[in-house]
Amino acid sequence: MTPLYNCKGPLRLSSFRSFCSLTKPFCLQHNLFSLCCKSSNMNSLSNKTRVITFVTQSKSYSTESLRKFYAEGRSLWEKKKLPEDINSSVVFASNELDLGEIKVYGFDYDYTIAQYSPSVEKLIYDLGKKALISKYRYPKEIESLEYNRSYAVRGLHYDIQNGLLMKLDQFQQIQIGSIYRGLTHVSMEEVRKIYGSKALSLGYVEGHLRGSAIGSIHPEMHRIVGQDVPKYLVRDPKLVDFFQRLKRSGKETFIITNSPYYFVDLGMTFLLGENWQDYFDVVIAKAKKPDFFTDNMRPFRELVKEIHMTCWGPVKCLEKGKVYLEGNLSSLQEMKNWDGQGVLYFGDHPYSDLADVSLHHLWRTGAIIWELDDEIRILNSLDYKRAIGWLQILQNIIENCQDSDEEDAREVILEWTKERDELRKKTKDLFNPYFGSVFRTHDNPTYFSRRLFRFADIYTSRLSNLNNYSVKHTFYPRKVNFY
Ligand SMILES: [Mg+2]
Repeated sequence: MTPLYNCKGPLRLSSFRSFCSLTKPFCLQHNLFSLCCKSSNMNSLSNKTRVITFVTQSKSYSTESLRKFYAEGRSLWEKKKLPEDINSSVVFASNELDLGEIKVYGFDYDYTIAQYSPSVEKLIYDLGKKALISKYRYPKEIESLEYNRSYAVRGLHYDIQNGLLMKLDQFQQIQIGSIYRGLTHVSMEEVRKIYGSKALSLGYVEGHLRGSAIGSIHPEMHRIVGQDVPKYLVRDPKLVDFFQRLKRSGKETFIITNSPYYFVDLGMTFLLGENWQDYFDVVIAKAKKPDFFTDNMRPFRELVKEIHMTCWGPVKCLEKGKVYLEGNLSSLQEMKNWDGQGVLYFGDHPYSDLADVSLHHLWRTGAIIWELDDEIRILNSLDYKRAIGWLQILQNIIENCQDSDEEDAREVILEWTKERDELRKKTKDLFNPYFGSVFRTHDNPTYFSRRLFRFADIYTSRLSNLNNYSVKHTFYPRKVNFY
């Protein structure tokens, strides 16, 4: 049997997989796990190997043996070197991507080029409340509710029918402790009564649950943000370098945004300067994504910038310096003669930005996931590294001893299981006490992660992280050898 990737000791893949709870080569989690693996001194694994392999030889243990295994595991954990920190400006890859083959770079605007400060979230929350009261006749009392930034995380699902907000894993299982009605936790017993199971069918998830519904307040939000751009946007000083480098390298560039042009113009002027349009060959506003990618019947219209009027004549070519509205992706490709595999498109939303272009048009894709900053900060914290190190060892001991039949042994394992559950809660709470990490449940990648890894070739926290790589760089996904 070939040694595992990055491991030099006698550890076998089957043991390693349970040791690290590793089931798929998902990059961020694998990054952490491989760091665990690298830093735990695999050349001197005598104790560790004993802890991991002893249990496969027999299924019946005395309580003394179990206590000894636990003590050995504990001692291993205490000696274990902590994993190295993960670099927060790294670009992760889910798929091999050679930037040398990319001739055209495309961008979404909101949360891709433009990063917003938390004050925008509060603004959206307050405008949403107003809309619920005035438009949907919600009780006026909700006006006094305050925005709680530490409550929800990205990638949750909302069951409109049952009024439940939840976090799902890649198998559509509801994460224990991560389902709420309002701010009230819903027990798994109640979940089973409502759904008949702790997992939901894909059809139900796609058909009855929603990620968000804030559409109607966008015009007001744009107006308010536009009045005080520095308050709401975060300027990245390295962003200008990023676009300058693309232009110097002869790359074509474009923007496709659903936002109105006046709003984008104010933001881009703040971020890149008055002549920001020099960096882009095509600018498309009010694109109505994701329909832009699939509805070939909608024509482009030109916006006459000076008078903010739409020109109703047919658009036969897309010119630099002009602004276009609506349109569709097939016409864009035809008019610009772009080959799908030579286009790299960045967006912040794996589904509405990246799914169609990746699946149907073969564009290469990059996701901008600003939550990575916080997630990596927590992964790098001493508290997390210590807790997850022990959790992985304890989980492995439980997994291997679980078939013990004696009552005394069962009690010991129950005790360990309680400790494991407390550790799981602790590691989850470090990210967010309600919903935990955006990317992981206790055992699996989240539903959000699954989509991200499926639709994004690369992902990172901000565009300027690409400045750390040459324009000919090839990104490779982290590999796990299955054999
Ligand atoms: Mg966006």
